[in-house]
Amino acid sequence: MNYPIFDGHNDTILSLHMQKDENKRTFFDKSEKGHIDLPRAREGGLVGGFFAHFIPNPPKKDANQMSSDNFPGAKSDSADGAYEMPKAVGLPYEYATRYAMSMAKRMLKIETDSGGEVKLVRTVAEIESCIKNNVLAMIYHFEGAEMIDEDLNALYLFYQAGLRSLGPVWSRDNIFGHGVPFKFPSTPDVGPGLTDAGKRLLRACNELGILFDLSHLNEKGFWDVESLSNAPLVATHSNAHALCQSARNLTDKQLDAIQATNGVVGLNYHVGFLREDGKIVRDTSLGEIVRHGLYIADRIGTDHIALGSDFDGAVMPADLKDAAGLPNLVEALSVAGFTHDDLQKITHQNWLRVLSDTWS
Ligand SMILES: [Zn+2]
Repeated sequence: MNYPIFDGHNDTILSLHMQKDENKRTFFDKSEKGHIDLPRAREGGLVGGFFAHFIPNPPKKDANQMSSDNFPGAKSDSADGAYEMPKAVGLPYEYATRYAMSMAKRMLKIETDSGGEVKLVRTVAEIESCIKNNVLAMIYHFEGAEMIDEDLNALYLFYQAGLRSLGPVWSRDNIFGHGVPFKFPSTPDVGPGLTDAGKRLLRACNELGILFDLSHLNEKGFWDVESLSNAPLVATHSNAHALCQSARNLTDKQLDAIQATNGVVGLNYHVGFLREDGKIVRDTSLGEIVRHGLYIADRIGTDHIALGSDFDGAVMPADLKDAAGLPNLVEALSVAGFTHDDLQKITHQNWLRVLSDTWS
């Protein structure tokens, strides 16, 4: 049985953007590099998802360039897997804006160059039509809102350009709030909540119908959103803290709050957010994703689990490898006892419901 898979998070635009080597991959040719291109998406049944626009830190001499959830410096090779990444500093607005524009161009060019095979989607009806017609649906998503000014003027323009989802912070601080550090083991309760500008950003997103993603936000910020937002709570790419004590994962109380608002958690395939020992090693079983799926299902129900791969921004379990390997994950979930109805929800229906409730 093939399921259309809609996905909560990828860093494919950034991955294409940051290529330096001679043999650059494109979005349209099947490659061995990275995780998503159109042929591999088709092969694996990936019908669309949130395409993150993340602004890496400005290049510094000897600095490790960051991808989104995969850090050259975050090798957990100590015996117990513990690590802590130095927290990234805030970005200059002008730099972030310039970078955001260049990424927007790259995304829009994928759409135009695709000859109708890839579409930037703004409504759930458009996503449904994409799924029906075998067109890959891209949601324009910001991972960290550094390209938006304190007066939120840019937000309205980005919305008109198609922006439908944003995380106010990545794992660093900005004028809107404070991200969780990449730290294991660690509580997500690190630092203060949303700033006043962050609260205004949330209200504006609620009004416009832009999804407000909680995945990189610290716990106080999470509870600020919980008390102020009128939309379902969503963490696009996070796992269960009870099973892997990374600061990037969600506590039981946070999971309960997501359930209470009819929201959703996108399961993240990054090995460092799955394993009990927090180790970032490829030799990790697909069963780790299943383990988090079962835990979250047991706690809050299958209406509140979806997929949030972190493709092209993180380290995948070897048996998954890339988007073409998605059927292996669906199979593993099925073997673990998820029914056909559960799998329909987890692979795409829950995302469509939450987007429909959020965007309208
Ligand atoms: Zn991320």
